[in-house]
Amino acid sequence: MAESYDIRSVDRAEVLRYLGYSGQSLSPELDSRIGEVVDRCLAVARPRGVTRVFEVAGRESRDGLPVISLSGTVLELVGNSIAAHLEGAVAVGVLAVTVGAPVDAELRRLSLTDRVAEVIMDAAGSALVERAADAAEASLVAQAAERGLCVGSRFSPGYGDLPLLTQPVLLSALDAGRQLGITLSPTLLMSPMKSVTAVVGLFEEPPEREYVICDECLRREFCELRSTCRRCGR
Ligand code: SF4
Repeated sequence: MAESYDIRSVDRAEVLRYLGYSGQSLSPELDSRIGEVVDRCLAVARPRGVTRVFEVAGRESRDGLPVISLSGTVLELVGNSIAAHLEGAVAVGVLAVTVGAPVDAELRRLSLTDRVAEVIMDAAGSALVERAADAAEASLVAQAAERGLCVGSRFSPGYGDLPLLTQPVLLSALDAGRQLGITLSPTLLMSPMKSVTAVVGLFEEPPEREYVICDECLRREFCELRSTCRRCGR
């Protein structure tokens, strides 16, 4: 079942990073322009997501590569990178999020009328969809906590050697086409453009390399467990 996320801000530093800034000063005009376009992005966006948890059914090697199979789905996670990322995981959380078609429509409109605003809107949409992914992760954190499990950090198809071809099966496992309206082009690009898919590991103990405290956690704004001050993976 799709969830809507109430996201009222994005990290400005992240927007600037997507715009290619790394500490340079901004003119007051550009600074105010960025603020306006980010506000417009937040106003039109409809951040939503779906999550599911699958048990790890088995780990094997196929054609020289590790393969993690999951119960109740044909989704398999193939490659050395994801095998290392999910080492020790007893289950896998799968997520898809999108900021919705209205942001694409704004981008199309701005491409014809205001190219500077288009570039800023693109950066704002990227920062916003990452916030939506943080919210979806927080939902997986709550589901994992019911079982006394911790959640590691997200890993998306195309990272490392996890094939981009994982994308269609992952979206299908979440019924993301029907739930969120996410479709794939023949070259595996998602529409709406500002959409993200990822998997996270559910662990009995978070991998030490990923320990995080609540005050430093990207999921804290959305996390129901923050008051319990858990120490999670991220
Ligand atoms: S570290 Fe804290 S804020 Fe982050 S997911 Fe865990 S409990 Fe929630």
